[in-house]
Amino acid sequence: MTMKISLSTFAKGGVHPKESKALTEHLAIENMPLPEQVEIPLLQHFGAPCRPLVNKKDRVVEGDLIGRVESGLGANIHASITGTVTNIDSSPGPVSLNVPSIAITRDPDAQNKTYTPQDWKGLTRPDLLQKVKEAGIVGIGGAGFPTHVKLSPPPNAKVDTLILNGAECEPYLTTDHRLMLERPEEIIAGTKILLQILGIEQGYIGIEANKKDAIAILQKTVQNQKGNGFKIHINPLKVKYPQGSEKQLIESITGRKVPGFGLPFDIGVVVQNVGTAMAVYDAVVLNKPLYEKVITISGKGISRPANLQVRIGTRLNDLVQYLGGTRPDLAKIVMGGPMMGFAVSSLDIPVTKTVSGILFLTRDEIDTELHGPCIRCGWCLEACPMGLAPNEIGLYVEAGRAADTAALGPLECFECGCCAYVCPAKRPLVQFIRLAKQKAKK
Ligand code: SF4
Ligand code: SF4
Repeated sequence: MTMKISLSTFAKGGVHPKESKALTEHLAIENMPLPEQVEIPLLQHFGAPCRPLVNKKDRVVEGDLIGRVESGLGANIHASITGTVTNIDSSPGPVSLNVPSIAITRDPDAQNKTYTPQDWKGLTRPDLLQKVKEAGIVGIGGAGFPTHVKLSPPPNAKVDTLILNGAECEPYLTTDHRLMLERPEEIIAGTKILLQILGIEQGYIGIEANKKDAIAILQKTVQNQKGNGFKIHINPLKVKYPQGSEKQLIESITGRKVPGFGLPFDIGVVVQNVGTAMAVYDAVVLNKPLYEKVITISGKGISRPANLQVRIGTRLNDLVQYLGGTRPDLAKIVMGGPMMGFAVSSLDIPVTKTVSGILFLTRDEIDTELHGPCIRCGWCLEACPMGLAPNEIGLYVEAGRAADTAALGPLECFECGCCAYVCPAKRPLVQFIRLAKQKAKK
């Protein structure tokens, strides 16, 4: 008898893009050999750049603190290889042209650092939070919001639920899937640490139902690690994009809705990624800061797609060389997934803490058609999970009236790309909305 699993989902909008995960979903995580040099940006988070703590010619060991948050929001930066600081200057970063960065040239004789697990159960909540803060952990994807800030609800917030995002609904990306399969014990232990920091017992891990093996392995791990008073539920989710976006994930799992311009705190929820739970485990149990991460390298434009564990600051050029180079029909390089990622034009930029994947796409994997006028089909209205009218916003922007769109709520758009994905006229709706947002903010 087959058991029927009820799948949670959100009510409004959403699309079903081609998954394109077969290129890497069955490939085990592979450790990339250390590069000769890394370029570590001092700004990999939401906030101001860190202050460099090293000088040119200083020797550093992997895991050393090399950039500290001075004030306000931010996350510490650590050396990702052992060697000598060879430059401290502005360099091209993934999102901005000039980011203050520290270049380290590797000492070829240095050994990899080893870490011994330590029991965390006797640590207080402030101790645990401090370890997360020291380790420089930030959210994956997006702007890189510091994790310790997300774990510090305001005193009036009544948080009762932690949700871990294991949906990985973006096409091509398989990083979280592989982490759940290969490091389930660390993810569940990291979930317990997160619950302990928040002082709550209820946690959910939301995983799209196309990752049955990950659902099964995490369910088994939760069973094996029962106890400590924590209640961790593995929640299979309907396969629908953008299932992994914060507001949609909360609605899918709890039925609660984050109010417009509100935060998950407002409805008692904290959301973290499964990769963040693993980074928290590393920080607390191993005392290991965040200086390496797993990313998916995929697309038909790279010779050998892979799920790679790489050091922060590794240049895309080094990744490409390690994977046998790009293919002649490469047409576009995308940082992140095809729905929410952004195109990059240089291989001279480094991997940062917020990168989840890099796609090397050929002409047949991208849309190259020119856009036409809106035919008023209404498909974008149906697809928008926020209930916005992307067509209207686009028409105003095209007419040079972006400032008149404020009443249409462009600031509620989180740029999921569903509207542009369904538009038969191939209108660049997300770009239109970005312009509208800039005006609305003013
Ligand atoms: S990109 Fe914005 S407007 Fe378009 S579907 Fe997503 S939330 Fe809606
Ligand atoms: S999907 Fe495209 S063509 Fe259809 S209403 Fe929206 S903007 Fe217009």
